[in-house]
Amino acid sequence: MTLDGKVAIITGGASGIGRATALTFVRKGAKVLVADIDLAKGEEVVAEVEKAGYPGAAVACAVNVAEFTEVEAMVARAVEAFGAVHVIFNNAGIAGGAPLLEHDIEKDYHRLIRIDQDGVYYGILAAGRQMAKQGTGGVIISTSSVYGQQAAELSFTYSAAKAAVISFTRSAAYELAEHGIRAVAITPGRVATPIINQFSEELRATFAAEQMRGVLTDPQEIADVVAFLASDESRVINGTVVNVEDGYSAFKQRLD
Ligand code: NAD
Repeated sequence: MTLDGKVAIITGGASGIGRATALTFVRKGAKVLVADIDLAKGEEVVAEVEKAGYPGAAVACAVNVAEFTEVEAMVARAVEAFGAVHVIFNNAGIAGGAPLLEHDIEKDYHRLIRIDQDGVYYGILAAGRQMAKQGTGGVIISTSSVYGQQAAELSFTYSAAKAAVISFTRSAAYELAEHGIRAVAITPGRVATPIINQFSEELRATFAAEQMRGVLTDPQEIADVVAFLASDESRVINGTVVNVEDGYSAFKQRLD
């Protein structure tokens, strides 16, 4: 399995799942635009890539995925740096939420929707337009969550946004098939990144116990699957969800 000759944009590439995926993609031969709202941390990932022996394989780019003009500029930056776009991993996202009846509508609804939902839509649209223009085909991978398929505590808006990511993926696959572009969503469960690591040790242990192996998923384990989904070897996986949650859903059903 190789990503030789592929150019990939990874949003949220400065941390957690995105960072691990950027490092994995370059090891498999891709050129990567590490796109993140935190440019300094994106530059750190690029430095890691250089140190690992892949000079020029990654470039950092500042982007707020909640702004379409910035997402368009991000796609243009990838083309400027590497000549084309073959893969976009719409992965940037934030967690958060409050009990429904206590919602601050701006903070607990609109802000999350702008980043976790609109940001994915903008990535699909801007990269999809570029891939169609190139005529090369491509792959659109987007990060949903197990919460996109269920209700969960304090997750009214997050669950809605992550469910939309799955719906966008199905429809994008349907609409873009004629351009040789496929779309896949992934649903992580509990991954050891800053989103999870901010919680107490006790809560993290509870999260770990919800997965089959009883441990938090390592971001590298998600990156390995994303690399496969970006490769031609996964060409029959299209318009669907790939659960990367270590049996979380099956285990939950058993507990219930
Ligand atoms: P993370 O916090 O390590 O990484 C998220 C990255 O997104 C950060 O680098 C952050 O700067 C960036 N980002 C945030 N807002 C942005 C914006 N507006 N524009 C551009 N970049 C922005 O967390 P992670 O766990 O690696 O999260 C990656 C994705 O995985 C998210 O979509 C998250 O919802 C999803 N997810 C994570 C878990 C988990 O357990 N960690 C579970 C399910 C889904």
